[in-house]
Amino acid sequence: MNDRKLYLGVDLGGTNIAVGISDAGGNLSGKLSRPTPRGTGSIISAIAGACEQSLADAGLSVSDIDSLGVGVPGTIYPEGVVSYACNLGMKNVQLAKLLSERMGLPVFVENDGNCAAVGEYLVGCGRDAKSLLCVTIGTGVGGGFVENGRLFRGANGCGVELGHMVIEYGGRLCACSRRGCFETYASATALIRDCCEYIDSAPNSQCAAIAAERGGVDGRTIFLAMDAGDSGAGRVFGRYASYLACGLTNLVNIFQPELICIGGGISAQGERLLAPVRAILAEEGYARDCDVRAELVRARLGNDAGIIGAALLGRLKGEEIQ
Ligand SMILES: [Zn+2]
Repeated sequence: MNDRKLYLGVDLGGTNIAVGISDAGGNLSGKLSRPTPRGTGSIISAIAGACEQSLADAGLSVSDIDSLGVGVPGTIYPEGVVSYACNLGMKNVQLAKLLSERMGLPVFVENDGNCAAVGEYLVGCGRDAKSLLCVTIGTGVGGGFVENGRLFRGANGCGVELGHMVIEYGGRLCACSRRGCFETYASATALIRDCCEYIDSAPNSQCAAIAAERGGVDGRTIFLAMDAGDSGAGRVFGRYASYLACGLTNLVNIFQPELICIGGGISAQGERLLAPVRAILAEEGYARDCDVRAELVRARLGNDAGIIGAALLGRLKGEEIQ
């Protein structure tokens, strides 16, 4: 008999469904990934099938599991209702209820940015902190805020969509229909777009040559061009970093967290990304003269943050109630 608490976690993406089983400390087993099918019924069947496979791989059964958590890239209403998730084609889906009936487990559903924040807070970079604002930089910019063991959800469960804070009034058009949102300047998508625009304007640059050699532009191209001494690439990155710092300074001014962490693929750049942002934060942050200031760090859980955070929703809920 194993009395260790175990939690199933699902990171439901537009492309893949990633599943794993986490203990309370965030140690994963039975990790697997499957393509996300189209259609709500097919997605629910695929999640259940992946969870069953994960349990079988780990030599466990449903009765060994405390709860199932799912991170969804979309707007989540209370009781685990997916109000809207455009990449999944989901609208007003009672995901927690449907999955709970299917799996025979308590099911918690949260926005994927909130899940990453929960994972980092409980077992990642924030494990010794009282409050953590987690910012995930990827296709968009997502995030979540946990303070004193509680996830901030807002009155309707939709907090914290920090990617849709406007940092350039009347700026670039965002998928949410506003102009100038943080994610249209600070996402990995935005950095790749900036890099492409630079290459168009400087076709003879080292950056253009690197992109041609590597068969296209990705999130690393601008950094490789900087390594090669391309000063124009340095200016493109400098502008990106200043937009990122602008948004992060706004967030620190509002939340004043003990820690603010950056996750997503670009965070692999480490201090090259963090140092210029930290310098702007130190200069412009409202509480810059206070002894207690938000510390900017890199997220620690990497690609597993989504699965671990979703899995540990059950642990967080248990601790929130007490
Ligand atoms: Zn937006």
